[in-house]
Amino acid sequence: MTPEQALDRVVHCLDRAHETGFRTRAWVRARDVVKATDPDELAERAREGTLTDLPGIGAASAGLITEALGGEVPSYVLKVEAETVIELSPEAARYREALRGDCHLHSTWSDGGASIEAMAATAIALGHEYMVLTDHSARLTIAHGLDRERLLAQLDDLSELNTRLAPFRILAGMEVDILEDGQLDLDDDLLGRLDVVVASVHSKLRMERQPMTERMVLAASSPHVDILGHCTGRLIDKRPQSVFDADYVFAACARFGTAVEINSRPERLDPPKELLDLALSYGCYVSIDSDAHATGQLEWQSHGCTIAAKSEVPLERVINTWQREELLSWTDAA
Ligand SMILES: [Zn+2]
Ligand SMILES: [Zn+2]
Repeated sequence: MTPEQALDRVVHCLDRAHETGFRTRAWVRARDVVKATDPDELAERAREGTLTDLPGIGAASAGLITEALGGEVPSYVLKVEAETVIELSPEAARYREALRGDCHLHSTWSDGGASIEAMAATAIALGHEYMVLTDHSARLTIAHGLDRERLLAQLDDLSELNTRLAPFRILAGMEVDILEDGQLDLDDDLLGRLDVVVASVHSKLRMERQPMTERMVLAASSPHVDILGHCTGRLIDKRPQSVFDADYVFAACARFGTAVEINSRPERLDPPKELLDLALSYGCYVSIDSDAHATGQLEWQSHGCTIAAKSEVPLERVINTWQREELLSWTDAA
């Protein structure tokens, strides 16, 4: 394990524990400094005990670098690995083992913290056969959403990356904003080009019940939309659920072949159980998604598996347990 790999692993583990505080920022900084430092200089400083003269390197990161250079797995890596493991019940593990991909994740193209390639490398390490890259659409300016030009540039990047990463595949997708009138924040021709479209509400979350219902039904019934993202918009202990008539929305999802997402982010865990149960009673498909904005967050799918297990979602209704070709023919048709 090189110092860089050791630091990547630490940051990954802190990400999966949803640690965003000072400790994580310090390790990210140390990693960036190590990446920017010549390996020979690093080795020399480790020998001479001058690593901490580098900006952003403190006693803990210097210790980790020295251990890694000495050919051991640094003790801090072992500690943080053990502390941040995401536990799974046997029932939830059944779902996790069946997952072949992840249909909702972000990169540095929008508001993610890792490159497409870094996300793909982690997805591969987690055993996935594919991932759907779903950066934000243009309307979400605070998240640096992609307009037409940038999405086209990203699609070019994907074909190059896919040649390199085969047989793993990065599927083309987007998390498209559902506008206030239920229209989608992307031109039809581009929606048609994407493999998988996640549609989510990110604005005016407190709309009245009826217009919110109409807005979501319209989006769910679009032939381009494959997955309805984090449908209630809640942020646990921070933002209440949006108010809408879930019967109409899930009936539309079932009728028009739009999967209801189980969003695995710890602050979302959306939909809550009673709504997921309702969606299942309508015969909706489900997608268990990480909505990861960092590599370690790709492991959050495990939280979604726990939710799926509690609602006893039939495994065959989870679209990302399907073979990639099966998923693609479904999104084409649905
Ligand atoms: Zn979203
Ligand atoms: Zn997202």
